[in-house]
Amino acid sequence: MNKIRTRFAPSPTGLLHIGSLRTALYAYALAKHRKGNFILRIEDTDQKRQVEGATEALQETLKKFDLFWDEFYIQSERQKTGIYRKAAEKFIDDGHAFYCQCKAKNAKEEGFSNVLRDPCRDKGLDSGAIKLKVPENKVLTYHDFVHKKDISWNTDDVYDATLLKSDGFPTYHLAAMVDDIDMDITHILRGHDWLPSTPVHLLVFEYLGKGRPEIGHLTDILSPVTGKKLSKRRDSVFVEQFLQEGYLPEALLNFVMLLGWAPKDNSEVFTLPEFVKKFDMEGFQEANPKFLTDKLDWFNGFYIRKLTDEELCKKFRLFSSDFEAVDEDRQIQITGLVKDRIKKISDIDGLAGFFWKTPKVDEKLFGENYKKHLTSAVRIIENLEDWNLEKLNGDLTANIKEKGYKVGDFFMDLRIAVAGSKFTPPVNDSIIILGKKEVLTRLRRIV
Ligand code: GLU
Repeated sequence: MNKIRTRFAPSPTGLLHIGSLRTALYAYALAKHRKGNFILRIEDTDQKRQVEGATEALQETLKKFDLFWDEFYIQSERQKTGIYRKAAEKFIDDGHAFYCQCKAKNAKEEGFSNVLRDPCRDKGLDSGAIKLKVPENKVLTYHDFVHKKDISWNTDDVYDATLLKSDGFPTYHLAAMVDDIDMDITHILRGHDWLPSTPVHLLVFEYLGKGRPEIGHLTDILSPVTGKKLSKRRDSVFVEQFLQEGYLPEALLNFVMLLGWAPKDNSEVFTLPEFVKKFDMEGFQEANPKFLTDKLDWFNGFYIRKLTDEELCKKFRLFSSDFEAVDEDRQIQITGLVKDRIKKISDIDGLAGFFWKTPKVDEKLFGENYKKHLTSAVRIIENLEDWNLEKLNGDLTANIKEKGYKVGDFFMDLRIAVAGSKFTPPVNDSIIILGKKEVLTRLRRIV
């Protein structure tokens, strides 16, 4: 088999979408599994939709996941060579396209009458936009390598798509297919949105006359909330959003690996090189995957616990300036304490904030004997000779027994008094880190 060449072809219209990360990842793995090439192609021919800086931002995001490309192209640059216009004009010469001067509503460009059969197709015009002359009653078929089945259309249902706009810029229908041929792409992997346009692309490939790559359309990712396609309005969808929320790139990537693909042995945890090694086309799933946040959280927790305390501590520092302001020994102690409990790096402020900020304590949280419990605790802590966990545990437990307190109730009250919440890292460990003076101040304030 020839060398596999895949491409990721985003339009620089904004931040990288989680679905696009998946497309890029699968295209990357498809190529790299067979030591092929992965190409990054910026599809910026729709100049109105450009967002300044989006190309650089997309590249930065891909790099955070180690999805490095072997070749890089920008369509607006390639456009200057005339490659797309030449292809479109050849279509005219060959009778597969025609000029159109219909005006779109509220637009300067020509060629945007989205009608099945364009009124200009038989006018013999010699300027304007260039549109595809779709033949009558012809069956177009391709085999989708993701869905593993043949998909067909009759051209009578296929509209005369615009290939080259009157401003000289190609549409996606022309530019992407010309490039896929010119760049020797062997496999097109793209979003499901493009499936309805595929018959147009099959015709374009046919008229370009140089064969065509395999084509696969990825499934839609469904929202955990609505069960419908993920939507920018309702769901978190941008990769950078997830990173900012405190998900680790390796966790997010591992999660995305399984959104539409599964290995035969159902294993789930992969680094990128392991994934590449395992990746095969048989593993594509038919059903639309659901974006299960719990699963993502599980992966994130898993990868967080694989970090050393030092590595994790560094991430907390980047995330929280309050944490960063704590002295370094204490940072490491706090890190060790919360490591088993956090789901996201951003949980640090919520879970450990009481270390650097005296919490507001809602007295309603306490049990009925809290004053007794806390008074005992103050006395024990005041008299604690060695400031260490073992001694603290021992003395508190002995006191609980002696006074006949309920263990759970006692420590819950202590926890609330020290940390302001029912959900905290282990309270005795926290007390040791906070130090005698601070803990006594907090307790005395309440009793
Ligand atoms: N520029 C298209 C998009 O961003 C790419 C589709 C493709 O991969 O061919 O949706």
